[in-house]
Amino acid sequence: MGCVAAAVLADLDIRVTIFEAAPQLPLELRASTFHPATLELLTPLGVVPEMIERGLVAERFAYRDRRHGLVAEFDLGSVGDVTRYPFRLQCEQFKLCQILLDRFAANEAVEVRFSMPVARVDQNDHRATVHFTSGESESFDAIVGADGAGSNVRKALDLTFEGMTYADRYVVVSTPFDMAVHLDDLSYVNYISDPDEWLVLLRTVDLWRALFPVGDDESDEQALSDESAERRLQSVVSRPERYEIAHRTIYQVHQRVANEFRVDRAVIVGDAAHINNPLGGMGMNGGVHDAVLLGRGLAGHLNGQITSQQLDHFATIRRDLAIDYVRRHTHANAVSLAAPSGEARQAALANMAVTAREPDEARQYVLQASMIKALWSMEAELDSVHAWPDGLARPLS
Ligand SMILES: Cc1cc2nc3c(=O)[nH]c(=O)nc-3n(C[C@H](O)[C@H](O)[C@H](O)COP(=O)(O)OP(=O)(O)OC[C@H]3O[C@@H](n4cnc5c(N)ncnc54)[C@H](O)[C@@H]3O)c2cc1C
Repeated sequence: MGCVAAAVLADLDIRVTIFEAAPQLPLELRASTFHPATLELLTPLGVVPEMIERGLVAERFAYRDRRHGLVAEFDLGSVGDVTRYPFRLQCEQFKLCQILLDRFAANEAVEVRFSMPVARVDQNDHRATVHFTSGESESFDAIVGADGAGSNVRKALDLTFEGMTYADRYVVVSTPFDMAVHLDDLSYVNYISDPDEWLVLLRTVDLWRALFPVGDDESDEQALSDESAERRLQSVVSRPERYEIAHRTIYQVHQRVANEFRVDRAVIVGDAAHINNPLGGMGMNGGVHDAVLLGRGLAGHLNGQITSQQLDHFATIRRDLAIDYVRRHTHANAVSLAAPSGEARQAALANMAVTAREPDEARQYVLQASMIKALWSMEAELDSVHAWPDGLARPLS
């Protein structure tokens, strides 16, 4: 999210230096879904056409029963009247970073320095100082902490990161094998319910990614082993050959939000500010929303366009959305997929089927899942720092 915040600030005439701990751009396979609202927010940066070129357009997403197939399908075309992007874009986060880094190389307003791990930050009335693990330090007018879930910036600002950790870990296994050839009506994004082992099955440009829960009877090593990966993929589509596994990872799942997103000259964005259940794909998306709103807010404040109180208000909006929107939606997704009893599982599926069948309800659900409703609740603030370019997804009056 550091790259997005830097691009937003540079666009508003603020010089930026990015300090990245790694020696080069990390290419982890994590977030891979951009929602319509996020594409709207990225539009002024001019990166969306290239993202679409390098990604995969998913016009539908679906809820399925592993044994009985398709239960409910949502068509993002139903919100085509309020967004230029009535689809989810399957495009890995690192591709957006690559596009932005290429642009920074030709932009004197942004300097990117790799292998610069930040140890802590501090600030006074005049400057904010970044201290590196090397012992060096540099001072700036303001700091954006975009250093991920373990954020040293958040810790140095003495912020809490309260919330909960789910009992299950999630394992993600990716394969180039084309699942769609063997499963009828498969969308590019599928939430698949099952009494024994639910899963999420997603398509990226090159791979199918399957995410499964891991209970406490299985260690990380077991869940990541060839045997477990093979067993899990064979249970999705059974085939005589072994699967080619392109990538696998396991991680703990949390819902945590920092108690403040702004402290004087510092703001935090992305996983540094909030982490959530990935079901619904709102973590990175929420991070982009932070980076755009707080980036604009910070630039507006540094340029004397908005007051400190207004910037506080921007930060409060982002924190409230992290709690009332992202946490609520992703937790509801997790509960419905992992419903403990057969009855609760059937009820959750039946509910989804009814929602998808009723056009008004389906539209409301898609507006929520695509984060367009979140975008609407920031619209006035986005417009208040240099008028937002024409075309931001507007609510119908
Ligand atoms: C399997 C999985 C799938 C997911 N899928 C989705 C999805 O489809 N859609 C979605 O919206 N979200 C998804 N998420 C969540 C998403 O991956 C994160 O919310 C997002 O990557 C956070 O981005 P970030 O830039 O805030 O943090 P990070 O991606 O963690 O980046 C932080 C950066 O800071 C650097 N850094 C860390 N410490 C320091 C330091 N001390 N000094 C300097 N640099 C430092 C790191 O090297 C890194 O480059 C998924 C998560 C997982 C685990």
